[in-house]
Amino acid sequence: MAEYLYLHVPFCRHICYYCDFTHVAYTKNKADEWLEAVEKELSLKRINPCLKTIYIGGGTPTSLSKDQLEHLFRILKPYSANVQEYTIEINPETFDKDKAGCLKAYGVNRASIGFQTSDPGLLKAIGRNHSYEDVKKTMVLLKEHGIRNISLDLMYSLPGQTMEMLRKSVEDALALSPTHMSLYSLLVEENTVFGRRGIEPLDEETEADMYEWICEKLEREGFHQYEISNFSLEGKESLHNQAYWKYDDFYGIGCGASGKENHIRYDNTKSLSLYLKDPLIKEEIPLNTKDEMFEMAMMGLRLKQGMDLNCFTERFGIHFEEAFAGKMERLLEKGWLKIEKGHISCTKESFGILNTILIELMD
Ligand code: SF4
Repeated sequence: MAEYLYLHVPFCRHICYYCDFTHVAYTKNKADEWLEAVEKELSLKRINPCLKTIYIGGGTPTSLSKDQLEHLFRILKPYSANVQEYTIEINPETFDKDKAGCLKAYGVNRASIGFQTSDPGLLKAIGRNHSYEDVKKTMVLLKEHGIRNISLDLMYSLPGQTMEMLRKSVEDALALSPTHMSLYSLLVEENTVFGRRGIEPLDEETEADMYEWICEKLEREGFHQYEISNFSLEGKESLHNQAYWKYDDFYGIGCGASGKENHIRYDNTKSLSLYLKDPLIKEEIPLNTKDEMFEMAMMGLRLKQGMDLNCFTERFGIHFEEAFAGKMERLLEKGWLKIEKGHISCTKESFGILNTILIELMD
């Protein structure tokens, strides 16, 4: 049985211009109906009562009212008794003392805040309705309620963003003493406000310079990079996200969530109205052994430590070097992959060309 659960809250109070996630404009009535559907979905699925992690993401989980958040935590209570890491994503625009109290009361012990940038002009340009001060207040509230394991999401390669603006944002983020940071470069998807307006991210060279600068800066500040886009203080790596990268099974609950269980990947319906009618509507993709071997490599190579070769052998009954015979040797010879302490990983230099490596592995 899966030991990790992702729950997707599809509501947002307003739409960010770069957003391509499943989201629905929040209304109290719709959110109440959605909570009933989530309750039904959980009762119809046989969920492991001994979960290791729960991650509530979105959308914007904090777009729910305090009472609705409480309702959600009550629904999840039968599964949260042994949870080691209980995370919720927070938008500083929709967070307050009452919600912080609610998180504490139900055992949430990790928060992921959408910080993005501290630059007021850029926040406005990307359609975020909060300020650096709001993030600061959110951090204070969380810490006052005993939630000290806090991750900040930071965006770079934003239209009009200079290296100077980026440096200031990273310094401002660090000044808030997070335990974890996640980096996202702007991707302009067609069906977003940016896509429709023809906005373009910065050129590839500037984007690469920005990424390199952030990686070096965070390492200097004591954050170790454990995944392409994720940095943490010692011992504060995200357990939940590591389950994805280690290719473990996980439940996906809620409209717009995805999951993987027993060799099947599934995407729950993205349509809220369909979900409200039947919360079990989903699209299933059966995974054959070849798919799974490749996907495990694809996810594992995102980790700095790489993919555990013993785990691969245990799972598939074949050594990695046999499964990818010829290709692996070529990649080792080129210096794009290395084997160390029972793990196969990218080198520092080849992290940036992971997609090229994966294409070679796939061929
Ligand atoms: S980025 Fe997050 S908060 Fe913004 S619209 Fe998308 S899901 Fe909602």
